[in-house]
Amino acid sequence: MTAFPLPPGSTIGILGGGQLGRMLAMAAARLGFDCVILTPEIDSPASRVAAHTLVAAYDDRGALAELARRSQVITFEFENVPAAVVAELSRLGAEVAPPTRALAVSQDRLEEKSFLNSAGIGTVGFARVDSEADLKAAFQRFGPPLLLKTRQGGYDGKGQIWVEKADQSAAAFDALGRRPCIAETPAAFKREVAVIAARGRDGEIALYPLTESHHENGILRRTSAPAQGTPKLFADAEKIAATLLSALGYVGVLGLELFDLNDGRLLVNEFAPRVHNTGHWTLDGCEVDQFEQHIRAVAGWPLGPTAAHHHVEMTNLLGDEALTWAKLAREPETRIWLYGKRAPQPGRKMGHVNRLSPLQDGRG
Ligand code: AMP
Repeated sequence: MTAFPLPPGSTIGILGGGQLGRMLAMAAARLGFDCVILTPEIDSPASRVAAHTLVAAYDDRGALAELARRSQVITFEFENVPAAVVAELSRLGAEVAPPTRALAVSQDRLEEKSFLNSAGIGTVGFARVDSEADLKAAFQRFGPPLLLKTRQGGYDGKGQIWVEKADQSAAAFDALGRRPCIAETPAAFKREVAVIAARGRDGEIALYPLTESHHENGILRRTSAPAQGTPKLFADAEKIAATLLSALGYVGVLGLELFDLNDGRLLVNEFAPRVHNTGHWTLDGCEVDQFEQHIRAVAGWPLGPTAAHHHVEMTNLLGDEALTWAKLAREPETRIWLYGKRAPQPGRKMGHVNRLSPLQDGRG
């Protein structure tokens, strides 16, 4: 049994070697922890800043045993951790946070929306689609158009397709490989917003200021935070985030993506049981950033203050954009985060910049 809070000098295991693992490892190091990364990638962004790396497939039982042996707590930087891996870690008696229930729910869009609704949290209308007939039935129920998404594995706008008419059902279902799907009604949103939310081992909750997010081609392009909004909007967002964290018995940081509707309602699109791209602004805009907050939470430390001290425009550096680092480095209000990825493929997240400006009226 692990005793919490973990003292400095303890080791935190991280499944995944990407930029989120890298920034988690950097935050952990600042608090005196070592990290051991499990990743199939040689020379990963996270491994280059962490104390130890195990290069192996995620389901490599020997590597999982070694990870469990070395780590006092194990966390992850991506939500598609296979269920078999989670089962193996619990068989080994490893302490895993966030809870595996949050992983299971977030891996399946149908489970996720059903869970949210059962917790009293609003989402768009949705229906399970396992066949062309199911999709036609969804058109009967909701009318057009519908957004068809694969239940599992979709990210950055992949695995989803708008279907304008019921007679396009067969073609749409084919286009997504006839995999188990969910059909969603369109969210009439004026903007997309996000909340980074944290819950500690003692049930304490800390929420970051609301963030406005802008996507291009399904990929997060930039965020602006703290976002403008009415007191009711802030209160609604906080209530949704706190309800979700408690319903999941959550420990760690969670990224919650919402639609701010034209009619004033706030609906959850999805959540990720991990640190999140919409929270990168907190690195330079908030007292304690999301990465340190996650480490604090999983290590059983008290959560840190989340208040913003600057307004931040965060922009992802995609592909070749990271090559402009020399120009960016000349901008005094720009903070640069580069992930150390070797190959700048088009659309690949290579880094991000946080552009700072003074807070207005305590909010952005
Ligand atoms: P997702 O993969 O579910 O995060 O969706 C990616 C993006 O597609 C979202 O950020 C929205 O811009 C858009 N989107 C997803 N679901 C809906 C919906 N039901 N109605 C309108 N737009 C959506």
